[in-house]
Amino acid sequence: MPIDLEKLNPEQQSGALYEGGPLLVLAGAGTGKTRVITYRIARLIEAGVPAERILAVTFTNKAAEEMRRRIEELCTGKGALVWAHTFHAFAVRVLRRHHELLKLPKHFTIYDQSDQKKLVTEAMKELGLEDQTNKAAMYVSIISRAKDDLLDAQSYAIYAATAVDSARQTASRIYTLYQKKLENAGALDFGDLLLKLCLLLKEHEQVRTYYQEYFLHLLVDEYQDTNHAQYILTKTLAAKHRNICVVGDDDQSVYSWRGANIRNILEFERDFKDAKVVTLEQNYRSTPLILEAAHKVIRNNKSRKVKKLWTEKTGGDSVQVVELPNEAEEASWVVRRIAILVEDGRSLKETAIFYRTNAQSRSFEEALRRAGLPYRIVGAVRFYDRKEVKDALAYARVILNPADSVSLGRILNIPPRGIGKTSLERLELYAAANGLTLWDTFCRQDQVPQLTASCRKHIDDLTALIRKLNSAAVELSAAGAIARILEDSGYWAWLTAETETDPEAVGRLNNLQELLNAVKEYEEKIKLAGEFIDLGRYLEQVSLQSDLDAYDPTQPCVTLMTVHLAKGLEYPAVFLTGLEEGLFPIGANNSSPEDLEEERRLAYVGITRAKELLYMTHAATRRTFGQVYANLPSRFILEAQLSLHSAPPSKQTFGVSAPAARPAHVVSYRVGQRVRHPSFGAGRVLELSGSGETAKVKVQFDDGRLTKLIVRYAPLEPA
Ligand code: ATP
Ligand code: MG
Repeated sequence: MPIDLEKLNPEQQSGALYEGGPLLVLAGAGTGKTRVITYRIARLIEAGVPAERILAVTFTNKAAEEMRRRIEELCTGKGALVWAHTFHAFAVRVLRRHHELLKLPKHFTIYDQSDQKKLVTEAMKELGLEDQTNKAAMYVSIISRAKDDLLDAQSYAIYAATAVDSARQTASRIYTLYQKKLENAGALDFGDLLLKLCLLLKEHEQVRTYYQEYFLHLLVDEYQDTNHAQYILTKTLAAKHRNICVVGDDDQSVYSWRGANIRNILEFERDFKDAKVVTLEQNYRSTPLILEAAHKVIRNNKSRKVKKLWTEKTGGDSVQVVELPNEAEEASWVVRRIAILVEDGRSLKETAIFYRTNAQSRSFEEALRRAGLPYRIVGAVRFYDRKEVKDALAYARVILNPADSVSLGRILNIPPRGIGKTSLERLELYAAANGLTLWDTFCRQDQVPQLTASCRKHIDDLTALIRKLNSAAVELSAAGAIARILEDSGYWAWLTAETETDPEAVGRLNNLQELLNAVKEYEEKIKLAGEFIDLGRYLEQVSLQSDLDAYDPTQPCVTLMTVHLAKGLEYPAVFLTGLEEGLFPIGANNSSPEDLEEERRLAYVGITRAKELLYMTHAATRRTFGQVYANLPSRFILEAQLSLHSAPPSKQTFGVSAPAARPAHVVSYRVGQRVRHPSFGAGRVLELSGSGETAKVKVQFDDGRLTKLIVRYAPLEPA
């Protein structure tokens, strides 16, 4: 069946059909940018472009999966063939193919932030900076940013040498040693994935030409958040065919702290002089009042391409701004409001609570739990970050790549096998002195001085175990291999024995069972596409998981997440919380104008996620790090020109019993009655619903606004 382009408006169609080379779709939120990419790919396939020669880059794995699913819907049998990946997953796929050229082991390990921190700390200790290891996280991010800018350790050293401040030189020394350690461990961190890929393409002409020829079309979503490495990669890959289509919104660039450079999108037309630019202005997501609020906020940014969204939608509820006395009341109010929405017939999965910082989730969790409403926090402690799960995966990493010293150090004595801290220190000392990996040192433990005889035996047993598991893993599926690891390493038996004395051990066993289930589920899913998942493929998938990937939007629960994570998503009802100076915008008065503009873009992202209902809340006081602060309402509330309501205190706050709720002064209304609202002016009641606490009136205001209000909370009066 031919692809139905009627589902696109004329501008979207021109984006989906354009055949003349470089194409930029620069458009505001909810205008169908992602939809254009999907349809464009489907059209290309329909026109005969082989699906496997199309590369589509998305911002999250989830978005990549969704893109494949949509393409499959439009072109049966083709969805799985398209290279739809995040930049990182794409990099891994190519690097695995050409690992030898970069002198990487086939099963190179991908280090996450906590592995990075461990390695940086080690490097700092070796450089005599042990008194500064509390700054390890800072150095991790300095190194990561350098990699985003394609500065390897040598280039960084040259750059640092010109610096007057010694801090940069210290960073350079740490970077150099850290990088050496990564190389010894056969590991790459996230920044390396892109850096090494760029290096591969730069230094190996054959490889570069191959991919430049191979990918006939290249499409990038959320282009406004690409960093320098991603920019170079995109430009390099598109150099031959020049069929590059990037879509994005400069108003939604919110990752500069992670190295993203808004200039990439703003200067696309300079990079590709003949680029066609498509702008989309019709928003299909939100009601006019929500769009109005978004526009009023974002127009205060100076560095942006001016655009204004419109919608065919009419009516809709007004955006509500509510001031609460503190964060506990804020959470209670939001939860009560959600309960009312549910009473009104909405499902929980239609509601989302966004906040600026992760720490804010706690009060919402407590309130939701008290109300018995199911919820899910996206991006909280990940399943794969649990100790026992990390242990199991560390075994798996060592089995595939024994050089991975961070993982080997982790499992050395788990379950306890008599290789103590002192022995480990001696082994590490020997390794460092002789330029060996920990694994090499294990293999020649007879040369390491001062180890006890029993320790030597334990080391031999462990090396034998790893070798045995390594050959077993070749033939097993990922789930089979992990089950074997847990069995043969004695981990199951040890945890099972622990249950006698440690009540938490049962939970840990359950988590391991859950891990096995997860691996099996993944295997089943991929098997449908005809692929076999071995341990290597599985580890890769886990390492590349992002905060959003575990999230299933069809679950019947309230979704909680930071505004950053909400990019690209949409919900019928959105609660944008903690809108206070100092919190959102964060830093407020101490921020640079650029930082403030980024905060404003973040507010814009939050507002534009809402389809029908938007609530913005502000707590007059908030407890942060044990101190209570009084905060002014966020400038974004003022900019949106919405009036602030104070909600009456709830019956209950947690911990202490709060004053009883203000006696409800409930006025009854009748259909047709004239009413007056302090912000919306005069209007007429159209409809009545609910009763008591949740009695509602639907009012047609004279200015055209159609709004449903809760009688108890709305500052409404009979006219
Ligand atoms: P964001 O800026 O948030 O990434 P976007 O520009 O990528 O948004 P989409 O997510 O593609 O926008 O689309 C927003 C919503 O509008 C989706 O629900 C989508 O299905 C719908 N939509 C897009 N185009 C059309 C159209 N032509 N007709 C009907 N609905 C559309
Ligand atoms: Mg999008």
